[in-house]
Amino acid sequence: MQKNMHCRVTPIPTDSTRNLCESVANFRVLPQNQTLSVSLYRYILTTMSSSASASSDSDEETLRRSRILKSKLYFDVPLSKVPVIYAASYDIAFLGIEKLHPFDSTKWGRICRFLVSDGALHRSCIVEPLEASKDDLLVVHSESYLNSLKSSANVAMIIEVPPVALFPNCLVQQKVLHPFRNQVGGTILAAKLAKERGWAINVGGGFHHCCGEKGGGFCAYADISLCIHYAFVQLNISRVMIIDLDAHQGNGHELDFANDRRVYILDMYNPGIYPFDYEARRYIDQKVEVASGTTTNEYLKKLDEALEVAGHTFDPELVVYNAGTDILDGDPLGRLKISPGGIANRDEKVFRFARERNIPIVMLTSGGYMKSSARVIADSMINLSKKSLIDLGENA
Ligand SMILES: [Zn+2]
Repeated sequence: MQKNMHCRVTPIPTDSTRNLCESVANFRVLPQNQTLSVSLYRYILTTMSSSASASSDSDEETLRRSRILKSKLYFDVPLSKVPVIYAASYDIAFLGIEKLHPFDSTKWGRICRFLVSDGALHRSCIVEPLEASKDDLLVVHSESYLNSLKSSANVAMIIEVPPVALFPNCLVQQKVLHPFRNQVGGTILAAKLAKERGWAINVGGGFHHCCGEKGGGFCAYADISLCIHYAFVQLNISRVMIIDLDAHQGNGHELDFANDRRVYILDMYNPGIYPFDYEARRYIDQKVEVASGTTTNEYLKKLDEALEVAGHTFDPELVVYNAGTDILDGDPLGRLKISPGGIANRDEKVFRFARERNIPIVMLTSGGYMKSSARVIADSMINLSKKSLIDLGENA
């Protein structure tokens, strides 16, 4: 089904137009006495099924709204705080087995420590989010998906650390899923802060491979989809642009917003690496593929062109920027060759895009699997502050 009317002009038949076409075709081929009865029967079935599905869609939407309005994740943050979101519980330490994954699972804390030790940010100015509850997660996830996380073997598969399968689930919940749920709370709160302050950075989050029904690629919860649904209801907005510049394709949010015209997705990714999700690629509004080995200048040129097109095509009320640093030269998973300076330049271009248009922007740190990523992200945030695109407080 078409999602964006600006970019796609070829009409694709919907279920109801298909049914209508079938009925018309039947008028031609059936004997006269059967034509009316068969077509009438099909018409009644079609009408009944579409009205039942419309009613169940609206029930689902009502339930989602009520869950969002009851949530505690949107709380008021005093002006003495800077919209940089992080809690010590983001970091994953699990009896040393986190070392088996190429992912630096304490990246989030290290970013903040660099910012504080460089005098760019006061520790007391950092905003601590709440953990997303089961009811919060049900805004996007199905009950059956959340139940599937009660199997350690399934969590092990999602986070790609096989030994996790051997641990009791209560330990997996506490050591792995609790940090993720805290980061989800941070991504959701970031949209509220961005609306109030113009920008917000969740030092974690950006789990763009997870959709409502399925996790994968180190992503157990669909924080981007959750953040956007909360923003629709709580911030009363209806147009969101996702700018996904992680090295990997963001198949999670693409599947979640497949038929939702309120969300415009610009995804710039390496098509030669995980997740090879060809179905989800159909739902990208603006696809920019960057091959393995792409270097900084070529990458930034493509980004300039992409942002120019995006700016002319869609007029968002919120930008969700998935700023993975696995595009860094030397990253074994991203396979691109972008320099640390190129990352700062990239982030600056996206912030300029949003800030010059007065569009609130949420940044998520997403993938970035090398020990050097934390330093690169901290440096990029300091650069954004020096360019007055964000304000980290008096000491920046
Ligand atoms: Zn990635």
